[in-house]
Amino acid sequence: MFLTISTTGTPERPATDLGYLLHKHPEKAQAFSTSYGRAHVLYPEASPDRCTAALLLEVDAVALVKRGKGKGRGGAPDAALAQYVNDRPYAASSLLAVALSGVFSSAMRGVCTARPERAAEPLPLRIEVPALPARGGPELVRRLFEPLGWTVAVEQIALDERFPEWGASRYVRLLLESEERTLAEALRHLYVLLPVLDDAKHYWVAPDEVDKLLRAGEGWLADHPEQKLITTRYLSRRWSLARAAMERLELVRLAETDDSEVEDIDNAVEADSEEEKPTPLAVQRREAILTALRAAGVTRVLDLGCGQGQLVQALLKDVSFTEIVGVDVSMRALTIASRRLKLDRMGERQASRVKLLQGSLAYTDKRLKGYDAAVLSEVIEHLDLPRLPALEYAVFGAAHPRTVVVTTPNVEYNVRWESLPAGHVRHGDHRFEWTRAEFRAWADAVAERHGYGVEFVPVGPDDPEVGPPTQMAVFTRTDKEKEAKAA
Ligand code: SAH
Repeated sequence: MFLTISTTGTPERPATDLGYLLHKHPEKAQAFSTSYGRAHVLYPEASPDRCTAALLLEVDAVALVKRGKGKGRGGAPDAALAQYVNDRPYAASSLLAVALSGVFSSAMRGVCTARPERAAEPLPLRIEVPALPARGGPELVRRLFEPLGWTVAVEQIALDERFPEWGASRYVRLLLESEERTLAEALRHLYVLLPVLDDAKHYWVAPDEVDKLLRAGEGWLADHPEQKLITTRYLSRRWSLARAAMERLELVRLAETDDSEVEDIDNAVEADSEEEKPTPLAVQRREAILTALRAAGVTRVLDLGCGQGQLVQALLKDVSFTEIVGVDVSMRALTIASRRLKLDRMGERQASRVKLLQGSLAYTDKRLKGYDAAVLSEVIEHLDLPRLPALEYAVFGAAHPRTVVVTTPNVEYNVRWESLPAGHVRHGDHRFEWTRAEFRAWADAVAERHGYGVEFVPVGPDDPEVGPPTQMAVFTRTDKEKEAKAA
């Protein structure tokens, strides 16, 4: 496994400063042991004009398999490891990325005591990776590196040059050039994007991988157009981790761009293409919820799974809602919500109307008792199906408000989203999406079990064939006896 980093220089700013920046002397070949084998750093050329450092990793197949045994799911050897044992020994992959961060850790952090000023400034860089496993091919390679200011030359490698009819291998030859990046930035791009392209991360993804990703992604990942793909692939498609990472990146972006609203992907889709200024679906959803709450004469309301607080904000604007409580399991979402609502700068009167609570809807919570209404807007689909009865009990059984409004995507409508590949759910964290019939069946059963009547309201354009994009159920308590007792 192999890559080279080259730079050019002048007598005042010699190229050999690369040795200082990498903390590896150009005149010595050095070897380091890493978890996956021996890493070598050597300089095929080192003059004031041009300097090239090469990183080579000799993968130790035995160590790899042993490691796999210890770390794989349930202690079984990880099948994904077989690929590395059989892989071309010089192909760059996520193993090389791990070696890179081990061998060049100070350089990756931009630390250079000998040449601190040079570490902070961009330099002409040329990075060559002769064999890079790249799932997604040259096109994805470009989509990943070009937004970061690299000029990308990428070439697919044939499976066997003697037999072109065999087609392309999963390897590309990659050349990156830029004069705008610091060495630390370049190393951090490689550290994240090599495993992303490899897309077969070999080791057990631990929660601290999120921290590693965010540290390496500092300054570029929050705004990268392929952020979602990078995050989910880097974290080996572990959605819970990818989601945590994206939430944190969102905080970074919010901190940088003030209050800009971060919406679901469906908000970007037009509600009605005929209309001149389409209303985002999320806005239509909030309007539909407000209408239902007003019609029910609600004044004290729970927004369960309030996320970043958009609905809470809309409720605050209507003085008929005297008490508004947002509840979410995610502290990060609540932090964003509190910033959006400017809770710290709110007048006393206004502040007394609103509260944000952290809590899980999968558990009965005394704090949720005694409200007129509860809203579950785009929340149920975020729970694993087996957890849904627990939420049902906590909301309809224990909290038992007079009105409950539930919205959820209508999966039938997904064929109408242009940007959504067939068979995909709308949001990475949706554990399920229901058809109209499935949602009705669930809602009817819930109403029956807990003493409610239920009505269904379409939200967004009601397509004659597939129905509306969002389906909404409005539950109203019918058990007069209990209501009288509660009053
Ligand atoms: N209601 C908002 C946000 C929907 S996203 C809107 O309509 O835009 C779903 C939200 O539910 C997320 O903020 C997530 O953190 C929250 N959530 C998921 N599972 C939860 C649980 N078990 N308890 C509380 N909140 C939960």
